[in-house]
Amino acid sequence: MKAAALIRPASIASRPLEIRDLPIPTPAPGQVLLRVLACGVCRTDLHIVEGELKPLRDRVIPGHQIVGEEVGSNGSRFGVTWMAGVDGTCQFCRRGEENLCDSPVFTGYTVDGGYAEFAVVRSDFAIPLPAGLGDLETAPLLCAGVIGFRSLRVACVQRGERVGLFGFGASAHLALPVLRAWGCHVSVSTRGASHRKLAESLGADWVGTERERPPIPVDRAITFAPSGDVVVAALSSLRKGGVVAINAIHLDRIPEFDYDSLLWGERQIRSVTNVTRADARDFLELASEIGLRPKVTVFRLEQANEALLALKNDAIDGAAVLVP
Ligand SMILES: [Zn+2]
Ligand SMILES: [Zn+2]
Repeated sequence: MKAAALIRPASIASRPLEIRDLPIPTPAPGQVLLRVLACGVCRTDLHIVEGELKPLRDRVIPGHQIVGEEVGSNGSRFGVTWMAGVDGTCQFCRRGEENLCDSPVFTGYTVDGGYAEFAVVRSDFAIPLPAGLGDLETAPLLCAGVIGFRSLRVACVQRGERVGLFGFGASAHLALPVLRAWGCHVSVSTRGASHRKLAESLGADWVGTERERPPIPVDRAITFAPSGDVVVAALSSLRKGGVVAINAIHLDRIPEFDYDSLLWGERQIRSVTNVTRADARDFLELASEIGLRPKVTVFRLEQANEALLALKNDAIDGAAVLVP
C-alpha cells in the first residue's frame, strides 16, 4: 500500500514525510483493517512530523482523523480519533474517564495512522459513522470537532446559555453550529479579521477582537488559544458560578490575576484533555442531525508534505483532508 511515513522528524519545508510502498498491515484479534477513504490533517500531525512531539518509534505513519471502510464488509464505515486505545484498567478508565487514561495509545503517533491506503485499528475504538455524514466532511470532525464538543461539555454548557468563544480556529468554528443548534447565545472574541468574518457568517450573536469583551457576562467560556492572557480575558467576561474551559494542550503561562474579582464567586477554570469514545459517538450523531458540514480542501496522499506545509502557513481554506 501507499503510505506517507515519517522516519526522521524535520522542518516540514524539507518534506520529511516519505511516500513509500509498504505491506498492508494484518489485523490482530480485536483489530479491524480499514481501507482509508479520507484522513484529516491536524496541527498535531505537524508537531509530530517536525519533532515537537518526540518520536516514539523508528517509523510512524501519521494521521488521526481517519474515515475508513472495513475491508471485507458491506461498506461499514468507521471513524478513528486521536484515541487509538486505553488500558481499561487504570483508575481513570475504571471511573469512566478514559480520556485521562494513564497509558493511552494515540493514532498516528504511538501506532500507525491514516496517511495511508489502509490502517489497522482497535475494533472497540473504531466509531461507527452515521449514514448522513460524507467521508470528506467527517474527517475534520474527528479531532477538532470532537475536542470542541468535549470543551462544551467540560464548560457544562446548557441549552440557551450565553457562551463565549475566545479564539476562532478549526475547533471553535465546528463548536459554534452546535451551540446554535442548542439555542445558545454565542459571542466570539478573536484576533484576525477573517476569523471574525467567518464567526459572523456562522451566526455568532456578537463578534469582537481579542481585546473586546462580550457586552453581557457569559455563563460559559471556552478558550482556544495557547495563551494565559486569553484565559484571564475569558475569566473577566464570566458571570459568578460560570466555567472557563481551556481547550489547549499547552499554555504559555498563567499570568497573575485578581482572585477577588475574577475567580471568587465560584467561577471555575478547567482544562480539556483528549476525548472519550462517547464524546466522539455523541458528537458525530449530532453533527449528522444538524447537518454540520465543515469546509474542506482535499490533497492527494502523495501531497501530505504540501498539506502540512500549507497548514503551517495558514494557507488552507477550511480543513485539509488527504485522500489516498
Ligand atoms: Zn488533531
Ligand atoms: Zn486507563
